[in-house]
Amino acid sequence: MNEPLLDIQNLRVDFHTDGGVVHAVRNVSITLAPGEIRGLVGESGSGKSVTSLSVLGLLGTPRARVEGGAIVFRGENLLDKTEKEMRGIRGSHIGLVSQNALSALDPSFTIGAQLIEVIRLHQKVGKETARKKALESLELVALPDPARRMKAYPHELSGGQRQRVVIAIALACRPELLLADEPTTALDATVQKQILDLLLEINRELGTAILIVTHDFGVVSHVCSQVTVMRHGEVMEAGTTAAVLEEPKHPYTQGLMSAVPKLHLDDATRAVPRSNRRLYEFKQLVSAQGETR
Ligand code: ADP
Ligand code: MG
Repeated sequence: MNEPLLDIQNLRVDFHTDGGVVHAVRNVSITLAPGEIRGLVGESGSGKSVTSLSVLGLLGTPRARVEGGAIVFRGENLLDKTEKEMRGIRGSHIGLVSQNALSALDPSFTIGAQLIEVIRLHQKVGKETARKKALESLELVALPDPARRMKAYPHELSGGQRQRVVIAIALACRPELLLADEPTTALDATVQKQILDLLLEINRELGTAILIVTHDFGVVSHVCSQVTVMRHGEVMEAGTTAAVLEEPKHPYTQGLMSAVPKLHLDDATRAVPRSNRRLYEFKQLVSAQGETR
């Protein structure tokens, strides 16, 4: 088997709060092969964001402490890296679409300026080359009329278009791995599906491995070949999406799945072999949602 691109091993993260120690992530292990799309799914507060932010060393508060484990990326433990070394990895090798990404765009700068800034931060290129790369990134995320949009401000774009820009920024330096934390949660169902399809397209075209963090099993079934289920800071189960959907080992996983509304079975569904049926239902559900709004 190929060496994993990302291998999180027994990660433990605590928050030292005034009220005591919170064990936010408890012995979590997750692997991602090059080019793989894995879902990290669980109810709110289960430790998904803390796990993914740990990969980038972006926990953002001195109260957060990684107490144990390893985060091996391309064969090296990121927990051993200095802050300077991590700056060379963030953006260049691991891109992030953070949970509140839509508000991460700066309202006072054009889309083009923000993209160019990110590119020049990570790559030693001149302004013109950076501009060309910025335009290419907007083309990559299929933003209509990208040359004109370079000059637009965030408020001039729709929510879906802004999310495309956020993804363009995360991919501007063509990282091998993209961490996408709830990339579609703030969007309505039609746009959700378009953004998920875009992530699939990027995965196919560039071979970018993607860790999609979500509370929504519909998202997982639409795009992820593998899934890890978390609850209360622990991994409940992991495996291929088809296997977990067909035979969830934990009642918790079943509960997460039943939170997605049931779809009416039609003739086409009955033609699908049982082993694939649940996956198929979820896919149908996601596309049906896309059509009805
Ligand atoms: P989610 O699965 O919704 O992304 P998070 O990873 O954001 O959950 O948070 C997991 C848990 O970590 C929370 O339930 C909370 O107990 C703890 N936590 C997260 N951020 C902080 C913080 N800044 N201070 C204290 N505890 C935190
Ligand atoms: Mg979160």
